Amino acid sequence: MNGLGLPSAKRVSLLVMWAFIEHAQMFFCLPRVGPPVLVAVVDRAGRGGTRKVKAAFEAVETRYAELGHTLQRPVSAEIVAIPIMGASKSLKDRHTLYVSVRAVESGLLDGLIAHEAGHMLRTEAGHPSHSPDVFRLIAKEVRIPRAAEAAFGQAFNHIQDIYADDLAFPVFAGADGRRAYEFFSGWVENNATMRGKNRWQNLGLAASNGFAIGNLVRHDLIGSDDKLWDRARAFDREAGFQAVDALAAFYAKLPENPSSDGFIAEVKRLAAIMSKASTT
Ligand SMILES: [Zn+2]
Repeated sequence: MNGLGLPSAKRVSLLVMWAFIEHAQMFFCLPRVGPPVLVAVVDRAGRGGTRKVKAAFEAVETRYAELGHTLQRPVSAEIVAIPIMGASKSLKDRHTLYVSVRAVESGLLDGLIAHEAGHMLRTEAGHPSHSPDVFRLIAKEVRIPRAAEAAFGQAFNHIQDIYADDLAFPVFAGADGRRAYEFFSGWVENNATMRGKNRWQNLGLAASNGFAIGNLVRHDLIGSDDKLWDRARAFDREAGFQAVDALAAFYAKLPENPSSDGFIAEVKRLAAIMSKASTT
């Protein structure tokens, strides 16, 4: 993370940093068939699951290939004990996929892998939302109040999530999108339990609600009368602001393939929406 709370080129969560100093408890090399994409699965948590991760990754990879998306750089997967579902880190010559024990044991393992692979594909393609060069310009050009950096960092990460999910939804959402709806409605419910006293922290959660609903709007999986809107608006009301409608519209309408300048303009728009919500 840099001073603005924006992700660095490595896109690695602090939560998983410890993974680098842990000892691997199990490691096996996978046979190479075709291009070597998944090169290893390492169990750092000692709870097993390497075969499950390998099978899920290959199923996701096959589905992506059917849709015309193929990763070029090799991926190492690590099963780690972290409180989030997962994360990934992309370097110039490889990716690392972090899968939580919880994700391995959940029914959403393929969804997580599809999402993280979406980030990797965007990074390889140099999409402005996943480009270190563009991050440097944003750090220079987008002004954020200091107190807002964490909330804005969260909101910015969700822009990246939108672009990852544009690729991942057709892979995991299910024919009727039901799985995606269930997942994001759980997300909004969970945010409701996390409301605190800090206005900017609450605005970070509101951005997360805006992302969850905006993502569903973007893929035509939620109506305007859905109860999730009421939940998210109630969250805002109780936190003392109004943000979810503007945020959901923002995430829903992000242009698919913006230029760098177009993308930076969107990031500025997000900063303006967040600032406005914090002062009204
Ligand atoms: Zn993500």
